Amino acid sequence: MFHLSATELAKKYKDKELSAKEIISTFIQRCKKENLGALLSILEESAMENAKRLDERRENNEVLGPLAGVPIIVKDNLMMEGETTTCASKFLENYKATFTASVIKDIEKADGIIIAKANMDEFAMGSSTETSAFKNCTNPWKENYSPGGSSGGSAAAVAARLAPISLGSDTGGSVRQPGAFCGIYGFKPTYGRVSRYGLIAFASSLDQIGPFTTTVEDLALISSVINTPCDKDSTSIQTPTEDYTASIKGDIKGLKVGVPEEMLKGLHPEVQKNFEEFLATLEKKGAKRVSISLPHNKYSVPIYYILAPAEASTNLARFDGIRYTKRSKEAKTLEQVYELSRTEGFGKEVVNRILLGSYVLSAGFQDAYYRKAQKVRRKICEDYENAFQKCDVIAFPTTPSPSFELGSITDPLTMYMQDVFTISANMAGIPALSVPSGFTSEGLPIGMQLQAKQMDDALVMKVAKAFEDETVHAAKLPKLCEALS
Ligand code: GLN
Repeated sequence: MFHLSATELAKKYKDKELSAKEIISTFIQRCKKENLGALLSILEESAMENAKRLDERRENNEVLGPLAGVPIIVKDNLMMEGETTTCASKFLENYKATFTASVIKDIEKADGIIIAKANMDEFAMGSSTETSAFKNCTNPWKENYSPGGSSGGSAAAVAARLAPISLGSDTGGSVRQPGAFCGIYGFKPTYGRVSRYGLIAFASSLDQIGPFTTTVEDLALISSVINTPCDKDSTSIQTPTEDYTASIKGDIKGLKVGVPEEMLKGLHPEVQKNFEEFLATLEKKGAKRVSISLPHNKYSVPIYYILAPAEASTNLARFDGIRYTKRSKEAKTLEQVYELSRTEGFGKEVVNRILLGSYVLSAGFQDAYYRKAQKVRRKICEDYENAFQKCDVIAFPTTPSPSFELGSITDPLTMYMQDVFTISANMAGIPALSVPSGFTSEGLPIGMQLQAKQMDDALVMKVAKAFEDETVHAAKLPKLCEALS
């Protein structure tokens, strides 16, 4: 069953070749067997209950949604009423969500079944899943290598086929980079296209929920379900839900692919080579390569580490030792409740970001850092506006190099540079997809990124589909998939 895509599973379910009980129990068994560190909780009881109810509805010939029979895993920063939602933080270790995220309601309405919650970097801060307060996660393609982050658990889960689809969140690259490291699709939709209501906020002006899948068809399937306008998220785009499954078909003849030449220096040689092959494949399908420039991209990492911590420092102020689960037992005064609960509950990376964010927002430094960074953000958006005058989509690698060994990156700056190619899409709110595009000689996956104008999500998927039709990379499975069945 794990060889099937979500689209294939849904079809077999509809045709009554498989029951939801069979499908869900099979994937739950896989989840129980995994020892990658990909999951934080398995929702066996509720998933089996939902499967039973779905089978009954099928028996009664009721109309079923497009995700009927599809198991889905979600990152543990998405709220599901009554279920533990930890953000991989000690602070929320025993926290049970009091409501359900809109994106999960959309999935449930489409009859998808959530089977587990995935490991992640604490509060989505990190690029390797090593800041999780609970455990490390290993890359399914190579033991002791990082699956990427912060949605590393969600990516590893799909690469190991614990489910055909998972959700992550992408603030600076946290869906695309793990997608690239794990050899699967990782998509950050247009900002506002997917509701953030019920996603525990990190940096609200950059956060976007996005899916991981193993085929473009599945990407279109899940994206068509979760791109629903939401009245509980004031940044939700009020354009009616779009069906991408039809728009991914068709050719890309004459389509202009912009390549920012100045960004291609210093790439890992195998990533460089793979990028040229990626472009050659698109050219073979009739696309045309054009040179563009994104001159302010080089500032994207520095300004991200001003803007994202600034937003995080205010978003995380609610974790104060009074509300939610963590309260220090040592605290005697109100001040100590705040201080001790926060130092006991948060990991080092989270503390660093809160301090940095409070600093750049402080009265004396706001103009020098925060406001200046906002101006540079505007410049990045203008770069894109100029570039899209010349091309339809933009292509460059998702990351400059493939996955690395767990524990091998010890200084924060090197880790922060993981996102040098991904952050600018969050700054501009545009759709960006990491496409599995090949492997290094060591067998580590490589991903190439496609970006387009806001609301051109369908176009990004269409170009990816044209590439997928010509290649076999996305269809490859890591060896350990067999061992889990
Ligand atoms: N790696 C970046 C960070 O550490 C991005 C994280 C994300 O996209 N959630 O903040």
